Amino acid sequence: MTTTTTSGGIRFDGVSVAYGDTVVLDSLDLTVEPGEVMALLGPSGSGKTTALRAVAGFVRPASGRVLIGGRDVTELPPHRRGIGMVVQQYALFPHLRVDANVAFGLKARKAPRDRIAGRVADALEMTGMSAYAKRYPRELSGGQQQRVAIARALAVRPGVLLLDEPLSALDAQLRGDMLAELGRLHRDLPDVSMLYVTHDQSEALTLADRIAVMDRARLQDCGTPRELYRSPGSAFTASFVGSANLLRGVWCGTGVVEVGGARLRVREGRGTGEVTVCVRPHLIGLGEPDGSDTNVLRGTVTGLQWRGASHRVTVALADGAEVTAEVPELRVVPVLGERLAVHFSSGDAVVVADA
Ligand code: ADP
Repeated sequence: MTTTTTSGGIRFDGVSVAYGDTVVLDSLDLTVEPGEVMALLGPSGSGKTTALRAVAGFVRPASGRVLIGGRDVTELPPHRRGIGMVVQQYALFPHLRVDANVAFGLKARKAPRDRIAGRVADALEMTGMSAYAKRYPRELSGGQQQRVAIARALAVRPGVLLLDEPLSALDAQLRGDMLAELGRLHRDLPDVSMLYVTHDQSEALTLADRIAVMDRARLQDCGTPRELYRSPGSAFTASFVGSANLLRGVWCGTGVVEVGGARLRVREGRGTGEVTVCVRPHLIGLGEPDGSDTNVLRGTVTGLQWRGASHRVTVALADGAEVTAEVPELRVVPVLGERLAVHFSSGDAVVVADA
C-alpha cells in the first residue's frame, strides 16, 4: 500500500491491539500529516494511550502497521523510531540535574559531546528553562518539570512528538499557560507531527489541527475542531466535542424531522425512521421566532443556571425531551414552570448518527 506521508507524519494502517481476548484498539486507520497536531480525544479506557504507545513501540500490534515518515516502524524498537514522548507524570530522573535529564536521550544514542551541549541548550531555550539547567527536578514546580520533560523530548530532534495527557497533573491556571506554550512550540516546529492524547475537549479544541474521537477501542470521527463542532458525525462526537442537545425525532423526508409534535427543518444529514437531531445550546434563542427560517419548540421551563456571562435555560417539551439554550445574561429571567418557546435556525440543526 502506498502512503501519502513523505517526511515526518504518522500513519496507523489497520492497527489492532489486544490484551488477552480483549481488543483495546480495533483496526485503527489514521494519518497524522507532517507538522500536524492530531488530538486523540475520548473517554478513559477508549484506547487513546494504547494507540500512542503503538507509535512509540511500547505495545505491539496484533495486526496492522505503524508508519513514521512513510517508513514501516512496526518492528523497530522505540529508540530507533525518531520520536520524543512526554507523559503526565513528567518521569524525570530525580538524581540528575535538568541539563543531564535533557541530555539523557542524546547520551543513550551516543551523540558527540559538543552536539549534546548544543542540543540541550536549544531545547532548554525553546521551553524557557535555560536558567534552570543546574537545578534538580525536586527544586522545580510541576509546570517547570513538565517543561523539562518537553525539552528532553525535543532534544533528540524527533520527527514525531507524542504527548500523553501532558497537562493533567497541572492546576487549571498552569494548564492554560502550558497549552499556549505548546501552541507556540507547534508554530516553532513546523515539521514535527504531534499526537496529543487527552480526555479534555477544551485542550483538543485549542491545540489540535484535527481531532480523532475515540470510543470503545474505535475511531468514531476525525476532522478539524470546527468540522466536528459544526457537523458532528455521530451523537457521541456531538456530546463529546462541545455540549449538545440531542433530540430524538422522526424523519419526514427532505430535511424535515418531527420532534415532540413540532416539525423541524435541518441543515444536513439524511435519515429514515427515528433520527437524532443535534442543536448546540448557544445557537438557540428564547421566545417566539421572528424569521421565516426558524424552528420553534414550545414547553415548560425546568432548569435555570446562571453562569456569569450567560444563562442556561432548560425547557421540557410535551414528550418529556429537554432542550437547553445558552443565552447571554438575561435582564428578565424566566421562572421555573413558565411556558416558553425556544427557536433556532434550520442551519444550526444537524441529523447525527446514533453511535
Ligand atoms: P485511554 O488512554 O483511552 O484511557 P487505554 O489505551 O489506556 O485507554 O486503555 C484501553 C483499554 O486497555 C482499557 O480498558 C485498559 O484497561 C486496557 N489496558 C491498557 N493497558 C493494559 C495492559 N497492560 N493490560 C491489560 N489491559 C490494559
